[in-house]
Amino acid sequence: MKKIILILLTIIHISCQNSNKYYVVTEGILIENITIISTDESGKIENYTGNILTDNTKIIYSGKDIPIIRGSFKTIDGQGKYAIPGLIDSHVHLNNIAGINFRQRKSNEILVKEYFARLPKNFLYFGYTTLIDVDNYAANTIKRLKKIRIRPEIYTCAKKVQVMDDFEMFMNESPQNERYESSFLYDKYNGNIKFPDSIDLEKHSVNNIISNIAQDDNICIKILYEDASSGFKQIWELPTSEIMKDLVTEAHKEGLLVIMHATSYEGQKFAVETGIDIIAHAMWNWTAIPQDYLNTNIPESHKKLLLDIANKRIGYQPTIRTILAEKDILEGSFKDKEILKLLYTPKYLEWLLSEDAQWSRNRILARPKFLEQMNPEFFVPIRSQFNSDEEMFEELYKSFELKIQKVMNLLSENNANFLFGTDNGAMNMYTHPPGYNGYLEMQHWVDAGVPLKQIFKAATYNNAKEFDLIESIGTINTGKTANILILNSNPLETIEAYNDIQFVLINGDLIEREKLSSNYEEK
Ligand SMILES: [Zn+2]
Repeated sequence: MKKIILILLTIIHISCQNSNKYYVVTEGILIENITIISTDESGKIENYTGNILTDNTKIIYSGKDIPIIRGSFKTIDGQGKYAIPGLIDSHVHLNNIAGINFRQRKSNEILVKEYFARLPKNFLYFGYTTLIDVDNYAANTIKRLKKIRIRPEIYTCAKKVQVMDDFEMFMNESPQNERYESSFLYDKYNGNIKFPDSIDLEKHSVNNIISNIAQDDNICIKILYEDASSGFKQIWELPTSEIMKDLVTEAHKEGLLVIMHATSYEGQKFAVETGIDIIAHAMWNWTAIPQDYLNTNIPESHKKLLLDIANKRIGYQPTIRTILAEKDILEGSFKDKEILKLLYTPKYLEWLLSEDAQWSRNRILARPKFLEQMNPEFFVPIRSQFNSDEEMFEELYKSFELKIQKVMNLLSENNANFLFGTDNGAMNMYTHPPGYNGYLEMQHWVDAGVPLKQIFKAATYNNAKEFDLIESIGTINTGKTANILILNSNPLETIEAYNDIQFVLINGDLIEREKLSSNYEEK
């Protein structure tokens, strides 16, 4: 009798509380009794035990109460587990291949195919449900990736905007006629650059460039600023601050964000002065003075600038992998990592061990000679401090890492607007394995002293907010896309939680992590 009364009371209680509130689902998933870690719409991290209900591609409920459901759904017991929003990597290069350079693609078609077939699953395996390609120079690759059903969401910035004779045209040694035929930006404020009369400069005006970009699906544009602190003799053209301000104004009118690749103090100062939205890469080049190049005492001017970047809430993508992926190549043990077996096909792994795949190492090792010839005034004073190239490399990478860590510390203490990004695929180096690279990047942030809460926010809410995607992703809230990770450990307690994923929910599809590995496909 007692039992019956209790049951009756419970039923009455539920129906009173939710008298007319129930959820009708056709393909629902109820995640019960799980620790939900997410951010509220103002950016505050919430951490509570609750329930999540999804239907098809959307989250239709999240909260402490148990929802009443009608229709067809399955239940996941979330006890002892953690639900977080799917991760966002806001700096990737999807058409670059980790391990195969552009010249090698034609003769390795099968490997290329296998790499791209694994790409979406590799990102999902490490919980990346949204990717932003910051330089969509190969629209067909993006289109092909978007046709795959189970994959991360993909957003793009337009193909990089370049002023005539910029750093990249100079580095690629692209022929003059090719430069004129490119969709370069005409910097009318820079009198150094001369054009033949045959070129219609109006086609290359800020207005024209931006309106062309805005016609496509892009959400951002990327531009480049590299100066002499990169170690090269600066004989290329930099954008003027006038043209940059024009570009930013026009881009904002079209709702496009502006990302600037700027790794130096001068570059980041320029970015702040011209109203750039997002700075790509940590400030790892502090000076062009060779005697001072390895000095890791952060100057007052640099501190002041970083404080300004933090206070102005400018988006900041440290992408530590850009540097440390090179260091990993020189160390040479990366390709032996067990984890790669879960990401790549046996054939691809075999390739990574082949002689042909060592081109990236050779390219890094060739740099001293190149710099010595091209810019001896800069190179010789640095090289003379060391007995060998190896010793120099070791100290250089150590100093880069330390500089990045100091920069991130200062930004972190001042609650900067960190945006999580990896520079995945940079220079086609094999030490950028899709997905796993994000996990490595996170570990670098921990090493730099960034608190776990900031890392969590940078990879979820901050990215979604900055790129204006917060309406649909970045938090676990009603109405958002069902991109959710179910973790076995707490990401606010250990970074390893991001490699301890049980399920990935992508666009409402529930996938066991194991099924995303390359091992699984073989069975
Ligand atoms: Zn990049």
